Amino acid sequence: MSIFSFLLILPVFILLIVMVDVVGQENEIQQSTLNSHEILVVSQDVEVNSLIIGREVLRDESLKVINSGHPLSNSRKEIKDEFQQRMDLFCSRYPANGMEVKCEILRVDNSYDPFSVEFKSKITVEKGALKHKLNMSHNISLTNGSYPIYDPLPSVKCKTHGNMTIGGDRIVYGSSLAKYLESRGVKNFKAYENATSPLSIKKCPYDPYILHGNSKDLVNLKNCIENGFYHESSDGSCFLCRLEGKGVCSHYGMETFIIPAPSLSLSNNSSKAPSSSDHVIFNDTGDGTYSGQEILYFFDGKEYFKLYLDNSHRSKYGLPVC
Ligand SMILES: [Zn+2]
Ligand SMILES: [Zn+2]
Repeated sequence: MSIFSFLLILPVFILLIVMVDVVGQENEIQQSTLNSHEILVVSQDVEVNSLIIGREVLRDESLKVINSGHPLSNSRKEIKDEFQQRMDLFCSRYPANGMEVKCEILRVDNSYDPFSVEFKSKITVEKGALKHKLNMSHNISLTNGSYPIYDPLPSVKCKTHGNMTIGGDRIVYGSSLAKYLESRGVKNFKAYENATSPLSIKKCPYDPYILHGNSKDLVNLKNCIENGFYHESSDGSCFLCRLEGKGVCSHYGMETFIIPAPSLSLSNNSSKAPSSSDHVIFNDTGDGTYSGQEILYFFDGKEYFKLYLDNSHRSKYGLPVC
């Protein structure tokens, strides 16, 4: 090859070398784009599943308390620990893709909404040189989901005082609630013989709450009681404190009505008895249980249900004060 022809070919070589390099770089860029897409998909998958798993933990912890009758000593920590274990298990299936996936549960606590529990978490997904970190805060709804979450408080308070059964979506106290009140020296405890209260937590749609009393025949109150709804309440215990067996707490919480058995089955002639809000009945910190005046509801000429309410609850629900 003459020098002249070599000089002619040289640019072709240089061009080829540059092209090979560019293709190599493109492959790298394509690979890293693929990886970063995969990382985003995985991180979204972990996020969606953390909401599902978190709600399962709330359900299971509540069932554990209901079945044993023993409260949790620190519900926020115990839920966080159980949640972490289940997330670790969930994330452990990813390393098969050469990916490292972690979801750290940083905190489980009250949400601004008493019908939700808030959790904070940090998701980290790593593959090759790429790393994706995501700090998140989510609310888990106690009321919206494919299965209900049960109120653990009645079991903690009453299970040691007698048999409680479940009838439909209600807790049937038998003698347990009356015995619990009697053990605390509460007057007219007998009014709660065979009382019932809701089993699962459902949010009352009669909002503003004064709608409960806005019709003469109290049909909204009747519907609320029949459906076993819960209401926001600054005096009522929050879900996390209910798991700890607290009838009242400092957080913004919820309340529901505990319904005495209709008087047909009971010879209790007093028109006064412990007020039927659950935070009044289950407030065993000192003299927390105060009395309320009877409200009777008739249907077809017969007493259909009754409850006892103090004036402050009557005003809250738009019912006549006395
Ligand atoms: Zn209601
Ligand atoms: Zn609380």
